[in-house]
Amino acid sequence: MSFDTLGLSDKILSAISAAGFDKPTPIQEQAIPHALKGRDILGIAQTGTGKTAAFTLPMLNRLEKGRARARMPRTLILEPTRELAAQVEESFEVLGANHKLNVALLIGGVSFADQNKILDRGADVLIATPGRLLDHFERGKLLLTGVEILVVDEADRMLDMGFIPDVERICKLIPFTRQTLFFSATMPSEIQKLVDTFLHNPVSVEVAPPATAASTVEQKLVSAPRESSEKRAVLREVIRNEKTLTNAIVFCNRKRDVDIVNRSLRKHGFNAGCLHGDMDQRSRMATLDNFKNGEITLLVASDVAARGLDIPNVSHVLNFDVPIHAEDYIHRIGRTGRAGRSGTAIMLAGRADKKYVDAIEAMTGFNIPQLQSASEDKGKSHSETESGNSHKEHSNNRKRRGGGTSRAASKASSGQTAPSDAVRPSSTKAPAPKSEDTPKVSENTSNQKQKQKVVGLGDHMPAFLTRPVRPDSK
Ligand code: ADP
Ligand code: MG
Repeated sequence: MSFDTLGLSDKILSAISAAGFDKPTPIQEQAIPHALKGRDILGIAQTGTGKTAAFTLPMLNRLEKGRARARMPRTLILEPTRELAAQVEESFEVLGANHKLNVALLIGGVSFADQNKILDRGADVLIATPGRLLDHFERGKLLLTGVEILVVDEADRMLDMGFIPDVERICKLIPFTRQTLFFSATMPSEIQKLVDTFLHNPVSVEVAPPATAASTVEQKLVSAPRESSEKRAVLREVIRNEKTLTNAIVFCNRKRDVDIVNRSLRKHGFNAGCLHGDMDQRSRMATLDNFKNGEITLLVASDVAARGLDIPNVSHVLNFDVPIHAEDYIHRIGRTGRAGRSGTAIMLAGRADKKYVDAIEAMTGFNIPQLQSASEDKGKSHSETESGNSHKEHSNNRKRRGGGTSRAASKASSGQTAPSDAVRPSSTKAPAPKSEDTPKVSENTSNQKQKQKVVGLGDHMPAFLTRPVRPDSK
């Protein structure tokens, strides 16, 4: 199957080949012909399957006829985050290279005045986050009555971010006769309701079951204590021992942990940066660019910040926390193994995470292999006696130490077999990770004495740190 047969114009086809796309991905192949006929589309596909071009290409075809009028965008694309919106804009630049289109981006962190200027020129394509769009609308700078095509992208993330009421409002502001292209990796019931309300007899295109993790991603589970500083030590061990790790996204559940983990990694000599929703637009873009061009090799991120980001060639996804929502696991590990490349997803999990891991496994229908022997796991059960709130890490050492098994232990001295690669911090070149003794950004230095020997993997050197893992060793 080639792009030629889908019904796209020659201008578009030449931009596609200039972009280096040889053949359509399954979602593109199935959605584009229907979209070109004006049908509403419900596209369900995991991340990295090429959903952006699945709506960009038919939109370009439609936009070849007609002209935009001031403040009346002809098409509207809703994206949950600023980064995703910027990525879609890039996609229009590439695939719309042969079209003279006015593409406007309405995202937070950019001045209203600048955005108004672009809107005044008349936007063929308006790409916006829901809140910012409504801001402009309420200021009277925008009329939505000329919208011919509405795209709702990453709908399930909109849901997670609480944007559904905004999306609903926007849907109601746009003429009923519009064409709607709706994309989501998963279909929770709230999304289904939205689809039932706002799509007209949609063609449903589903390229993989909603909960299927990319088959090109190797998944692993690593036992980790709940206490944060020890858990961070486990993270470092994982990074040092993953020989194929060239770059990675490290996911945390909470924004504040994104900061803590990022600072801790940097403190330990790793080349890290972070991405979370509270950062201003400029620093988010700068971080992302640095990650894309390899200046940063470890990107610590929250789900919100990383949703749907197209970052090619991520070798690893490291789940510092087990996601509370099983769907997030799919999205997270979808950051690696994209476009047919192989990738590795490693998740740190303790006993308290079991129900979430179970939920993920139930959803994906796949038992994630544990890279640790059962006996080692038993030795860790005391970690569950902690109060469990990681934000108490500054004060809960007393509790932790009273938890039974001593964590002071032989060093899981990691470093010795780690390969020399770009990701590895210079500090790991020393065989013993004495860096543990140096105070960390976020740790109470008064604990340092007690913790001198604590490396984070308990009393034993986990076997996986000393030898290559065989599939039958779980
Ligand atoms: P999704 O939105 O489904 O997560 P994207 O649209 O961001 O996925 O696409 C993921 C990656 O695949 C991007 O780097 C994109 O350029 C690339 N891509 C999309 N379509 C094709 C294609 N037909 N051939 C080759 N690469 C493609
Ligand atoms: Mg996408």
